[in-house]
Amino acid sequence: MPHDHAHDAPDAALAKAIEQLRAHDLRVTEPRKAMLAILVQEHGPFSAEELHGKLRAKECDVVTVYRSLQAMEEIGVLRRCDFGDGTYRYEFNHGEHHHHHIICRTCRSVHTLDLCVADSLERLARQMGYQNVSHTLEVFGTCPRCAAK
Ligand SMILES: [Zn+2]
Ligand SMILES: [Zn+2]
Ligand SMILES: [Zn+2]
Repeated sequence: MPHDHAHDAPDAALAKAIEQLRAHDLRVTEPRKAMLAILVQEHGPFSAEELHGKLRAKECDVVTVYRSLQAMEEIGVLRRCDFGDGTYRYEFNHGEHHHHHIICRTCRSVHTLDLCVADSLERLARQMGYQNVSHTLEVFGTCPRCAAK
């Protein structure tokens, strides 16, 4: 997966995320730490089931993973992605390095699109008096490899 953003080193990003959890009175449990360690290292985005699969040794159930992901998304540590298939996926929120995804409809591969065109939409929404404005945008297509088949 190409992912060459110039963001924090994994250890620093992890430490910052744990700080954010504490600042929001979220418990820093071993499973949460393990989840964050994975999400800092691997781009994902991962569903609760996928992340749970990676955590197997840590003995926590998928509902715990699901709830933790939700809680960490609410405080901005994670970003939630909706690929339109009824499953939410989560990735680490590297703050200023906001990006979108291109998802292949055939093989479901995910690549990053390092561009955001939604700033003007958000500005418009704020001008209309909306607060806490955010957006999600994912792009779908047939990847070159699938197209060549
Ligand atoms: Zn494909
Ligand atoms: Zn991403
Ligand atoms: Zn965007």
